[in-house]
Amino acid sequence: MPQQKNRSYDVIVVGSGASGGWACKRLAEAGLKVALLEAGRPQSDKNFTEHKPEFELKYRNLAPEIVRKTRPIQVKFGVCNEYTFNWFVNDLEEPYTTPADKPFDWMGRLRMTGGRTNVWGRVSLRFSDWDFKAASFDGHGENWPLGYKDVEPYYDLVEKYVGITGSAEGLEHLPDGQFQPPVPFTCQETLFRNRVKERLGRTVMPARSANLTKPINGRGPCHFCGPCERGCMTHSYFNSAFTTVADALNTGNCTLISNAMVYKVLMDPDRNRARGILYIDRNTRQACEIYARTVVLCAQSQESVRILLNSATPQYSNGLANSSGVLGHYLTAHVRSGGGSGEFPAFGAKPSLGAPVKPLGIYIARFRNLQNAPPYKKFLRGFGYEGESSTEFNWKAPGFGEAYKKAFLEARTSIGITGFGEVLPRWDNFVELDHSVKDIYGIPVLKIHMSDGENERAMIQDMGDSAGEMLEAGGAKNIRTYAHPSAPRWALHEAGIARMGADPKKSVLNQFQQTHDIKNLFVMDASGFTSNPCQNPTLTIMALCVRSCDYLMSELKRNAI
Ligand SMILES: Cc1cc2nc3c(=O)[nH]c(=O)nc-3n(C[C@H](O)[C@H](O)[C@H](O)COP(=O)(O)OP(=O)(O)OC[C@H]3O[C@@H](n4cnc5c(N)ncnc54)[C@H](O)[C@@H]3O)c2cc1C
Ligand code: SF4
Repeated sequence: MPQQKNRSYDVIVVGSGASGGWACKRLAEAGLKVALLEAGRPQSDKNFTEHKPEFELKYRNLAPEIVRKTRPIQVKFGVCNEYTFNWFVNDLEEPYTTPADKPFDWMGRLRMTGGRTNVWGRVSLRFSDWDFKAASFDGHGENWPLGYKDVEPYYDLVEKYVGITGSAEGLEHLPDGQFQPPVPFTCQETLFRNRVKERLGRTVMPARSANLTKPINGRGPCHFCGPCERGCMTHSYFNSAFTTVADALNTGNCTLISNAMVYKVLMDPDRNRARGILYIDRNTRQACEIYARTVVLCAQSQESVRILLNSATPQYSNGLANSSGVLGHYLTAHVRSGGGSGEFPAFGAKPSLGAPVKPLGIYIARFRNLQNAPPYKKFLRGFGYEGESSTEFNWKAPGFGEAYKKAFLEARTSIGITGFGEVLPRWDNFVELDHSVKDIYGIPVLKIHMSDGENERAMIQDMGDSAGEMLEAGGAKNIRTYAHPSAPRWALHEAGIARMGADPKKSVLNQFQQTHDIKNLFVMDASGFTSNPCQNPTLTIMALCVRSCDYLMSELKRNAI
């Protein structure tokens, strides 16, 4: 018999990451009573280890096999390591399945307040109408049911609060934002930027990143210690645990319920309304019910859609709010398996083992299939690159004695760039429930079907070729490029499996991320993305979430939901 939480709320928000944090802040600051259900544990500054040296760790951070015992998938991405592994899901306790011929590594599954923003890479880029209206340009898929002008004020609002360092570049397809001063380029990055612009007309810029260069709201500027993924005691990068969620809790209107693993949305079938949530307490394994006027899912794309699929009722037998039949379909996630690196002159830079570390690098804006150029013949859409430069000791110096010492100290400076490419939304990339497997809480798990198509394969090849072309134009020597097929498929930027659209027959959500079928049920994470442009998604997730919360409140006010 589920335990019933008698207090009723205006809104239940599920998940405390990038989207859930903003939903709680926006709604609680407006006076609504919010219950925040989070599967993970509370996060605290005491858990942050960005200044702890490896020699203080039991295994010196040199024994990934220890982490692999419980997190064989999560450990494949370096941010899950001896410092942080217990922030991540235990893959054995909370598995998922895939078809044998379509392996998929679902990484970055956090179980802490703040979700993925605890460990994210912080690159924060706006989308433009080249993205929102991409189907009109090339005929693939659907346009978003909104345009840049609808989201622009929310980008401004979110950027000012989050704190994004960046430079204005005046690109129509990668709009400028409300930036804090950029972190300056190194000499090598300046050379690379100037030559690539001069010779190829492409734009290399300092990464637009959620790291502060000026203080805001009691958060200090970054002091360049380096490993943001281990937390930050000065709160200098954006993590919803110590920003949006903290603000929401400070209002007194938001109640955080940790270790609450949401199973399903509870429905009132007679009124076709969501009435609350059923969750399992991860510590006691007790089932609990909690009630509210409105339910907002922000659990990350696959997790939110899993909840909807597990909430099937006789009326919605193939998943809640799925009268269109598209719930779970059109899974997209960036391809990033092409790129390159090369050596640059050191310009007097000296390698050091203890020097400050820039927590962000460079970004190269998309240059395929844009204005003022004919469509690129080999693929649709485009990709950008993330990159960084480094100056190292000459670890491979030959010889012995004095000659060796001298050669060892000769600085080796290189720039490496990795493409991040758009994956086209396709029906046959999808998730469904695998009823034969349950997690340790007894909840059916997801089966993920994901593979690359022709378009992605051609794009990956171009990521490698163009990296070589740009490094050469930039003046690099000893250039190495790569372009691997991205199998097994993996991702950190999944989107699109409860897509937004104007037509309820072809989409799950309207432009305010409200389900077409159930007026008081919203999904405000990236599952609503109609497509997944090459820019990193989180800034747009947050901007859309705030916009949808404002709509939700106006609908509540006029008793429309
Ligand atoms: C290593 C890494 C690097 C990244 N780098 C970038 C980057 O540079 N730029 C960028 O834009 N994006 C980046 N991302 C992606 C970014 O972190 C996500 O897009 C963003 O955090 C997603 O926000 P969200 O609210 O949808 O989910 P999350 O932030 O993941 O939060 C979801 C929360 O929901 C909780 N939850 C899940 N299921 C349930 C359930 N059933 N019941 C209750 N709670 C549940 C989880 O515990 C989690 O706390 C990166 C991600 C990773 C992992
Ligand atoms: S590099 Fe900057 S943002 Fe990252 S942990 Fe250090 S101080 Fe914080």
